[in-house]
Amino acid sequence: MPAQVVDGKAIATAIRREVQAEVETLTVKYGRSPSLAVILVGEDPAAVTYVRNKGKACQEVGITSVPIQRPATVSGEELLDILYRLNKDETIDGILVQLPLPTHIGERLILEAVDPAKDVDGFHPSNLGGLLTGNPLFIASTPLGILEVLDRFRIAVEGQHAVVIGWSTIVGKPTAFLLLKRRATVTVCHIWTRDLYLHTRQADILVVAAGKPGLVRGDMVKEGVVVIDVGINRVGGRLVGDVDFDSVYPKASLITPVPGGVGPLTVAMLLKNTLLAYKAKMGPHS
Ligand code: NAD
Repeated sequence: MPAQVVDGKAIATAIRREVQAEVETLTVKYGRSPSLAVILVGEDPAAVTYVRNKGKACQEVGITSVPIQRPATVSGEELLDILYRLNKDETIDGILVQLPLPTHIGERLILEAVDPAKDVDGFHPSNLGGLLTGNPLFIASTPLGILEVLDRFRIAVEGQHAVVIGWSTIVGKPTAFLLLKRRATVTVCHIWTRDLYLHTRQADILVVAAGKPGLVRGDMVKEGVVVIDVGINRVGGRLVGDVDFDSVYPKASLITPVPGGVGPLTVAMLLKNTLLAYKAKMGPHS
């Protein structure tokens, strides 16, 4: 049977509609809309585009986007001061610091200064640690998007062998822990892994987040594998993933394409997280 090709855009549209409907109702109920502060440092074209897209997505679902832009020369102290004020601001529900930050600014120090209750990116140590203990307030959007795909396609995870390539704090590690929590047997591969082929061949579920175009080819996977390609690479002016789609597709049972797979879900899950932060603040128990 041919592989199911995930239409990430369609899933993202469905999620955005769900968020929009809830935002509309709650904005009337609580008298103000949810809000997301987005801090952008410098003018890196990719970062500027990401921030613009996030702002537009917020607007479309009725979330107020509060853009805060500073030049690349901004000091760490000024950023900490901005975060201090945003943390205290009762009208701000979510805070996002667009990465990467300039090298003179300690990224970890800045991410740790975000109030965990407003950390809609899920990068604060208390939320990352919550993944281990089982109860994070927020989970990073890309791993959440991956789970969303598995859930919407009713992919059984329990007892499956999941192989995750990439161990970054924003994608690989949280994804591995989430799959472990779903009772998969998880193997995490990275740049130091010897003989990647040996591991990928065993995968029932293969998540690839390495940023290396063509890293996974058809001969590296078994029949029926579920393939989630997180990679976003620009090759010869077009976007490609880490998986060689043409050779892997004939063997897979499900595959996410690039573009149009996991990518659109990341922003949708960010909107969902912002709604979650707002509900936690405005809800009956607050
Ligand atoms: P990263 O550079 O922080 O981490 C890459 C990981 O891949 C590292 O752990 C490294 O050890 C591993 N790796 C690199 N080359 C490898 C190789 N040859 N064999 C095995 N492992 C290898 O990157 P990241 O931030 O985790 O992002 C990974 C990819 O996912 C990038 O292409 C990025 O653009 C993309 N991404 C997509 C989304 C999305 O919304 N779809 C979100 C975040 C990142």
